[in-house]
Amino acid sequence: MEQKELSTLREQMDAINSKLLELLSERAKIAIEIGEIKEKQGVPRLDPEREKIMLERLVASNPGPLPAATVRQLFKQIFQASMELQTAEHKKHLLVSRKQQQEDTVVDVKGLAIGGGTPIMVAGPCSVESYDQVRTVAKAISAAGVKLMRGGAFKPRTSPYDFQGLGMDGLKMLREAADEFGLSTISEIVDPRHLEAALPYVDIIQIGARNMHNFELLKAVGDMRTPVVLKRGLAATMEEFVHAAEYIVSRGNTQVILIERGIRTYEKWTRNTLDISAVPLLKQETHLPVLVDVTHSTGRKDIMAPCAKAALAAGADGIMVEVHPNPAVALSDAAQQLNIEEFNRFFDDVKKSGLFK
Ligand code: PEP
Ligand code: MN
Repeated sequence: MEQKELSTLREQMDAINSKLLELLSERAKIAIEIGEIKEKQGVPRLDPEREKIMLERLVASNPGPLPAATVRQLFKQIFQASMELQTAEHKKHLLVSRKQQQEDTVVDVKGLAIGGGTPIMVAGPCSVESYDQVRTVAKAISAAGVKLMRGGAFKPRTSPYDFQGLGMDGLKMLREAADEFGLSTISEIVDPRHLEAALPYVDIIQIGARNMHNFELLKAVGDMRTPVVLKRGLAATMEEFVHAAEYIVSRGNTQVILIERGIRTYEKWTRNTLDISAVPLLKQETHLPVLVDVTHSTGRKDIMAPCAKAALAAGADGIMVEVHPNPAVALSDAAQQLNIEEFNRFFDDVKKSGLFK
């Protein structure tokens, strides 16, 4: 008899479980809808005040026998699950998300495809210092097969007393040297007011690590249609990096390239810590091309080639490296720039790995 009762109770329990699951699923669907409305309105998904009211109501109408603390605990778990669902849905809706666009974004710069399956090399000085300096670099890197030259003209320096770059004159020198050797140019712009004037000289606008959180600058380049390389902030999480890219893409500029350039950790043997895991993560979560800057991430010439190979093996679409004719006298980043011979050795080494098609 008792055995029969037990099995009946168990059946009842199973039926309640199914009903509970059905109700929870229904609740989850509503939570997603609420999340979507909040997203459109631009209000935060988490609303602690509303959660508090819901919990108080539930505890007040608790018929027992569950203690109030258990009711709270159970519903907090349910609320948490809804939040996680809303966050996952939000990620799916990001324009940069792989879920939103399955195929890779390929950025075309004068016929050079970035993110098209063939890795690219970006090389050039940290700063443009003189016409002769950039011309020497342009000649050497183009002879090595490089198509994209970097060179900073507006330098965001830690100290206001350090070399700040040659500004517009520097951009003009970069352009002239690049044109002579059939190269395209990448240069950092730090002020939205300089964007228009810089356009004739810059094929790809760089947003530096220190400006990854400069939302007005991100919006301004988002309103343009020139390709942008966005560097990961000094201490930016993947979430923040991806959202910074979303700032640009959401304004209509889809030509965005991400660069992992190392993050600040407690490690002192390298200038920054190269986060290799960022490469497959960004490739998986977004459809944007991903480059790795081996110069600023390591700050050490002796490990740049292995780090570049690791980046390519992890799926990077290209490498960025700084090259200077005479690094010892460079006005910025003297310790970490490769001279031309070192660059050729570095590039040969990376090519020999077979990862550079
Ligand atoms: C640069 O590439 O010139 C530069 C300043 O790098 P980052 O913004 O990554 O420090
Ligand atoms: Mn530099």
